[in-house]
Amino acid sequence: MASEKMDNPRRAMRWNLTCDKGQCQERVSKKGKEVIEVCKFKPTIKQVEERTHDAESCSYYLQKYEALVAPHSLWNYHAFFQIMKFNKKLFEDYLDRKVSIFDEAHKIEDQIIQFVGFDIFAGQITECNLNSEKYDFTDLDSMIKLTDDMAYSYAKQIKDIKESTIFQNKPDFELITRLERRYDKSAQAKIDIMGDKDNFIVNDPMKDFNGNFRTISVKPIDVSKFAKTFFETEYQIFMSATINKQSFCENMGFDKDEVAFVDTPKSPFPIEHRQIDLLNIRRLSYGSTEEDELEVIKTIDRILDEHSTERGLILTSSIPRCQKILRFLSPKNTRRIRICHSANKDGKTQDEVISEHASDPTGVLLSSSLWEGVDLKDDLSRFQIIAKVPYPNYKEKRTKAKMDKFPLWYTSQTLTKLLQGFGRSIRSNDDWAKTYVLDTAVNNVFFKAQQMIPKAYYDVLGMENL
Ligand code: SF4
Repeated sequence: MASEKMDNPRRAMRWNLTCDKGQCQERVSKKGKEVIEVCKFKPTIKQVEERTHDAESCSYYLQKYEALVAPHSLWNYHAFFQIMKFNKKLFEDYLDRKVSIFDEAHKIEDQIIQFVGFDIFAGQITECNLNSEKYDFTDLDSMIKLTDDMAYSYAKQIKDIKESTIFQNKPDFELITRLERRYDKSAQAKIDIMGDKDNFIVNDPMKDFNGNFRTISVKPIDVSKFAKTFFETEYQIFMSATINKQSFCENMGFDKDEVAFVDTPKSPFPIEHRQIDLLNIRRLSYGSTEEDELEVIKTIDRILDEHSTERGLILTSSIPRCQKILRFLSPKNTRRIRICHSANKDGKTQDEVISEHASDPTGVLLSSSLWEGVDLKDDLSRFQIIAKVPYPNYKEKRTKAKMDKFPLWYTSQTLTKLLQGFGRSIRSNDDWAKTYVLDTAVNNVFFKAQQMIPKAYYDVLGMENL
């Protein structure tokens, strides 16, 4: 849906524009009494089921309820997990399905983690009148104390506001609802963490350019304990070209004996369309020398010369590495490059950069984030260079803790990202692209992850006799 500010909500609704009313349901004061007022455009699920809803009903709720009452429906992860986590009871009559299918299953952990643990923002600490310097942002107990202090502060604010004469004369229920939501979140966060303290880790705080605290997140290492909430149908099918049974079951907390694994023996795309050249130039790691780095960049330059009339993609592991590659390429090839991340320096979105790339016949995207979720079909990319193996960043505390506890997870994450990268430029049967891998560390990944490599990659990796 498009988004536009309109004065006439009825007209906005008719045009299917995003609502800016803000509250689907709100508490208002009528004749001195607090009552719940529901937006007049909001249909009930029963009305949608019986097709008796108003023609001008809110299109957001119409879509949501139509999906719930339909025999089959398609959801994005966030919308579906939101229901499973918070509204299961409310919609239980509509959630009784036999089968659910989860696509892109290799990303499920990232989705689940958004629903467990919590994030605290600087604004909330200020709102609670707390001094952030009193807390140790590296210590879990100190963070539990912070959530506790926040819950206390929100409870007190609610009480004080309700008792004030201003509120009694002109109650602001919107404010109260917002504070109550924040109280619930802080109180719930404490309960969650205290219930399983060893499983939570405090990530490093994010700071702004001036070094001031911006946000901190506390996340679980093992998500398997929370996963069951989201998977309740009798049968579940998880689809991905890049998962393996052992690591997936361990991560999700599934009993291996209850899981059947279908490992497609052959890729549907012809082998000559997805050739991979392991060039073994140098091993890139934190300990690699300047000479190693420059040798890899020299090879990138050479490959760009060989593909001087085509578009392509260069993948590496971090933004500083992107910048370094750009610094040392020949001027002629530098002009072909577009650095592309989810957020870019000049304010351009990823889609904007890719659409510029599409109109440059010899353009090359350089990125540390396009390993997944981008579709460079046909001429949008005829060659791809994997400059560096994409190990998860173990400087991130949760990654380090998870890697120590689940070594298999770390290898599997690296392999998944690498295989996802291989697929960025070959999107259909007739599509083709050549892939070059420069980092020697790839051999180590393939060796460690031997049992995890899906069979569909065996031909192109020369593993058919295994
Ligand atoms: S029910 Fe729909 S139209 Fe009404 S406030 Fe909510 S989103 Fe907006």
